[in-house]
Amino acid sequence: MDNKYEEIMEWASRRSIFYPSCEIYNGPAGFWNFGPYGETIRRKIIELWRKKFVQKENMLEIYGSQIMPDEVFKASGHLTSFNDPITQCIRCKNFYRADELIKKITGEDHPEATPIDELSKVIKRKNIRCPKCDSQLSNAKKYNLMVKTNIGVSNKECSLRPEACQTIFLDFNRMYKTMRITLPKGIAQVGRAFRNEISPRNSLFREIEFSQFEAEIFFNPKEINEIKNFEEIKDYKINLLRLDKKKIEKIKAKDLIKKEIVSGKLIAYYLARTQQLYEKYGIPLKKMRFREVSKNERPFYSKETWDFEVLTGLGWIEVIANNYRGEYDLKGHSEGSNKDLSVIENNEKFIPHIWEVSGGVDRTFYVVIDNAFKKEKVKKEKRIFLDLISELSPYDTAIFPLVNKDNLPEKSKEVAQMLKNAGFNILEDTKDSIGRRYRRLDECGLKYAITIDYDSIKNNDCTIRERNSMEQIRVKIKDLKEIFRKLIYQGIDFNKIKISSP
Ligand SMILES: [Zn+2]
Repeated sequence: MDNKYEEIMEWASRRSIFYPSCEIYNGPAGFWNFGPYGETIRRKIIELWRKKFVQKENMLEIYGSQIMPDEVFKASGHLTSFNDPITQCIRCKNFYRADELIKKITGEDHPEATPIDELSKVIKRKNIRCPKCDSQLSNAKKYNLMVKTNIGVSNKECSLRPEACQTIFLDFNRMYKTMRITLPKGIAQVGRAFRNEISPRNSLFREIEFSQFEAEIFFNPKEINEIKNFEEIKDYKINLLRLDKKKIEKIKAKDLIKKEIVSGKLIAYYLARTQQLYEKYGIPLKKMRFREVSKNERPFYSKETWDFEVLTGLGWIEVIANNYRGEYDLKGHSEGSNKDLSVIENNEKFIPHIWEVSGGVDRTFYVVIDNAFKKEKVKKEKRIFLDLISELSPYDTAIFPLVNKDNLPEKSKEVAQMLKNAGFNILEDTKDSIGRRYRRLDECGLKYAITIDYDSIKNNDCTIRERNSMEQIRVKIKDLKEIFRKLIYQGIDFNKIKISSP
């Protein structure tokens, strides 16, 4: 197990950033809760996606229910095709994911589309046995990943959605008619989804209940190359790991079209926008790539798939699935519901195609944390700090008195109230010594801390400390609102504020 992962898990638990759900009951694996700092950072990650991706591209954002009748998943193909191969120990009855167990023991890769009989043969041929008790394993069989439930007195068969996007497909026709859409158009959603994983693990990477932020771009397949804003990104370089290549290549968006690496401009455009979003999150370009996914490994509905991956202490982690779903979804739901989901544009009737940008919120949270998690030695002491971009800092600033006496707490409260009234999100902290408070704030990623000291009472001023540099500047209390407006809303650098303050 990677050291950094262990360190992050220890930190997450100690600061209640995220932790197992139903902890006091020893709840089942695969469910995670977020504490106050973690949840704020998570929410800000979503907010940045909304601003820089959804709103920037004029998408419509909707919000849908998580439980749906099984008719939906019959039409979507999930009831029959959304399976993992499993095998069971004949003696101790433990379950294993067949393809993963084979890989662990023999190193052989068997992609998702490998027939189930083939896996059974490999288990026999290679004499793969139960890792726990060394007994024989059963033939591989399909295990459906849907989380089932029943509703109402009639016990209607329902499932929890395995991907949030199904809501978007079902609502497309309504949106098209009532929101006066012209294609291409993106519809986005943040929401929960559920998969009955056999072996949930690595905390936020394989959960049973998880959050997704998704955008489904609906377009006329004949117009896949008619993208208005393509000029903006045509020279932007996208990191690709193609199937037949060993190294990451940096290829300009326009060259993806020229060399026919992707199916059209719309796809190159959204690959560029996706990579730009993660640059915005503070992830360095050298830690990102779009991995081309082979036909055998692609989800059953996809014609072209690029997994967007970020390099972490655990290796490359997929955070966004980019799928060309074609007409698969709207066609399936047209047949399943007996409703015509085609559109008419320019006298042409057709079923729109879909390009999907389906992101994992919790995975994005983890890769942002992994990248921001820093350690250094300060005067022989270990310091951990979370080098988050300002937009993800869980509070605009902390504020506290140097000591808890001599009117300093009162003064601190007064300044905090002034900043709160001006609309800032303030953390007040009076527990422990000032050194421990700074340590706590650094670890939770707060970018700024205001300290009220004895001089503050005399001179009506205070210090602002910046997290990464640990530098402090002294400013007038009356100027604080203006300074934080510059730091938080205008994104002006702390160093510039430093120079301009006397
Ligand atoms: Zn066993």
